[in-house]
Amino acid sequence: KQQMEDYFRQASQSISTDTTKNSKSVPLEELEQALDEGNFVLHYQPKMSMQTGKLSGVEALVRLRRGERDIIFPGDFIPQCEQNGLIDRLSYEVVQLAATQQQRWMELGLDTKVSVNLSAVSFDNDQFSQDVLDLIQQSKIDTEHMIFEVTESEVITDMAKALSILTRLRLSGCGLSIDDFGTGHSSVKQLTQIPFTELKVDRSLIEGIASKKHLQVIFESTLSMCNKLGLSIVAEGIEKKEDWDYLKRNGCHVGQGYYYAPPMPESDLLGWWQAGMPALT
Ligand code: C2E
Ligand code: MG
Ligand code: MG
Ligand code: MG
Repeated sequence: KQQMEDYFRQASQSISTDTTKNSKSVPLEELEQALDEGNFVLHYQPKMSMQTGKLSGVEALVRLRRGERDIIFPGDFIPQCEQNGLIDRLSYEVVQLAATQQQRWMELGLDTKVSVNLSAVSFDNDQFSQDVLDLIQQSKIDTEHMIFEVTESEVITDMAKALSILTRLRLSGCGLSIDDFGTGHSSVKQLTQIPFTELKVDRSLIEGIASKKHLQVIFESTLSMCNKLGLSIVAEGIEKKEDWDYLKRNGCHVGQGYYYAPPMPESDLLGWWQAGMPALT
């Protein structure tokens, strides 16, 4: 219990950190060394199909392991990786780890999709998508089991290029998810241009939805848009039972958040699945 509380506190501090004035940033040498030595690990958070109670998939979230006990959250190193040309290597590593893990779970009977977060910075590099596609082809994962999440608010500098890369990933069979929806600017335009399969409503539009009328209105219209566009809608960061119940009652497709289950190391995720996927709160 204490361990889980510590985890939540650490995680939420990491998220609330303004990355532009981040004082906890990890030295570049440590990041390069971590890539060389395999010190990046993935935790996996369940995405629950709200209407059926089935597992819709798991989201891979990267952590940096430092020493025996410490783990560093992505808010403290993704920006440096983006600024120092390391992000493509990191993303490649994450896709590889996630694809391998998905195969291991499949062998154990856990048939699940896995989502990986990509940085918009990588869309400036045509080679990156080719490398990722080659990697997926080489690994045994079925492309239908891989979803790429792209944060809406991140600046896509070259829209034509990003569009061609994302379309290639989609055509190969992978799912495409628009992450943190509601926090960016050109969202609605991008929705019609990029072949997304999923939309994740940002936590800021979910927290307190059971009692906040304006959030309900935004959610209802986003759901209606998703239903018409054939997109799966995911509510992220659900922490409270009343919010979970509200979203379920009002037709939300998929729910994710500490209320149901936090990100977990692969062995815990497997144990949780074997235990019948109970809500962990
Ligand atoms: P995201 O993709 O929107 O992921 C959701 C974040 O919210 C995760 O934080 C997750 O641990 C946290 N979270 C989940 N449920 C709850 C909840 O109920 N309440 C609260 N307060 N938080 C919740 P995390 O793991 O620290 O990741 C932060 C962001 O870092 C991610 O946001 C994603 O944009 C980025 N990120 C994570 N892994 C990767 C990666 O492998 N590559 C890239 N490029 N970015 C990554
Ligand atoms: Mg995500
Ligand atoms: Mg994000
Ligand atoms: Mg998100």
